[in-house]
Amino acid sequence: MIRKVTPKNINNPDISKDVAIIGAGPSGLFAVFEAGMLGMNSVVIDALPYIGGQCAALYPEKPIYDIPGLPEVSGLDLINQLMRQAEPFKPEFVLGSGVKDIYKKPDGSFVMQTSSGSTINAKIIVIAAGCGEFGPNRPPLEGIEKFENISIFYAVTNKAQFTAASIVIAGGGDAALDWTLSLATIAKKVYLVHRRNHFRGMDGTIEKIKPYQESGKVELVTPYQLHALKGEDGKLKSVEVIDLDHNTRSLPAEYLLPFFGLKTNLGPIKDWGLNLNDGHISVDNSTMETNITGIFAIGDIASYDGKLKLILTGFAEAARAMHSAYSIVFPNKALHFQYSTTQGIPNV
Ligand SMILES: Cc1cc2nc3c(=O)[nH]c(=O)nc-3n(C[C@H](O)[C@H](O)[C@H](O)COP(=O)(O)OP(=O)(O)OC[C@H]3O[C@@H](n4cnc5c(N)ncnc54)[C@H](O)[C@@H]3O)c2cc1C
Repeated sequence: MIRKVTPKNINNPDISKDVAIIGAGPSGLFAVFEAGMLGMNSVVIDALPYIGGQCAALYPEKPIYDIPGLPEVSGLDLINQLMRQAEPFKPEFVLGSGVKDIYKKPDGSFVMQTSSGSTINAKIIVIAAGCGEFGPNRPPLEGIEKFENISIFYAVTNKAQFTAASIVIAGGGDAALDWTLSLATIAKKVYLVHRRNHFRGMDGTIEKIKPYQESGKVELVTPYQLHALKGEDGKLKSVEVIDLDHNTRSLPAEYLLPFFGLKTNLGPIKDWGLNLNDGHISVDNSTMETNITGIFAIGDIASYDGKLKLILTGFAEAARAMHSAYSIVFPNKALHFQYSTTQGIPNV
């Protein structure tokens, strides 16, 4: 389902679809379904390397109680169900890549440029960007960019690469503790660095780490902070840590995994000429269209009087936006409103 795209120039886009949806959170995923029901195909772009927006990034295991018809569903299960619902329409995903620029062509369609250099053409754009791009909180270490994606990772996507390696994990929350426990089973050694002696993560995980501490596989390095990186050509040799009294230690390690949470950044969206209201995009809530014809906004990012920032609101807005967009995508076709019970799931 997920296809990688290679950069090409703007007149030869990597992907061409009816609808480009910026943001793979619940609103964006449901927009895929609504577009599909109206015969429109779509591409979804997200800065994160996985789908699900806030539900997947911030509370995957937490139960949600206010999704109509689902009395209790975890963040991740909701996303899996939305994905199942969208699947018949074969959406294309471009993940781990933020939309940086949008160009409107003379024919009214759009070309978007992503941070990975790919170009995407679409007749309409739906911005479902929540509170902006999610990205990792990067520790302020000199020269860190040279090591990123070679020796420093902010998420584990390929656990096997850490087999028999010495790893520094930094952070005090669940991600740092969970990955310490998980990688202790395959790594040579895991150093867990935290600036306090007390961890914010689950007590149960700390208990499970104890046997690995006793066997020397895991060492808790507290209260220390990351201080400097040593290595060459992006390959880490050691991580220097420092305590409040300026004592330093050098930890031999091939990898550093900083888990300092996610930050959001409205980023390039503020430069696209959209009417903004306190970091949100103003829309006409009878159509969900922004001040730019052909660009719609839904979900948390969309702003109008009486807006409720809830998942269920984003779902209704997705339906509203796609019905409004129909006349742009199919200028010569009349839209005949239909229930899903009447039409079934159409082929796109
Ligand atoms: C702890 C917590 C608990 C919550 N509990 C509930 C609840 O019980 N019920 C409820 O209804 N709501 C709840 N919410 C709120 C709910 O999660 C949001 O309303 C919902 O996620 C909004 O969905 P969205 O699709 O609009 O945006 P998001 O879920 O924020 O997704 C937006 C996506 O857009 C991406 N993006 C942004 N800018 C760009 C760009 N330029 N290029 C590419 N990608 C971009 C982001 O990376 C992100 O993945 C909760 C929120 C939190 C934090």
